[in-house]
Parts: sequence; structure tokens; C-alpha cells
Amino acid sequence: MFSTELFSHRRNKDGTIVSICARCYLTVGTAWNESELPKIEHSHTCNPDWLFRWQLLSR
Ligand SMILES: [Zn+2]
Repeated sequence: MFSTELFSHRRNKDGTIVSICARCYLTVGTAWNESELPKIEHSHTCNPDWLFRWQLLSR
């Protein structure tokens, strides 16, 4: 299940906010307003290759 805590937000110098998935480390998206990020994050699907690697590492 997805939760917003899976994404870390970083603010750029230009004022935009970047959302990075904490599970697959992909940049989910960039937005001017933090309220736009959940929409972007909701449409994010983790990279299956990365998830597979994480499963191997966590064993
Ligand atoms: Zn992801």
C-alpha cells in the first residue's frame, strides 16, 4: 500500500519541490506547490527492477 511517507520532499533553489520515492529512489515529480505532489505521487509506480533488487538485498 502506498502512503505519502514513502516520498521525501526536497525544495530546490528555484522554489520547486521535488518528490523522491523512498522505495525505488526515482524522482516522482516536481511541483511548484506541495499540494500538487500527492496527485503526482499517486500516479507513481515503483520501478519493478529496483523493487526486485531491494527484495534481494533485504534478505
Ligand atoms: Zn517508487
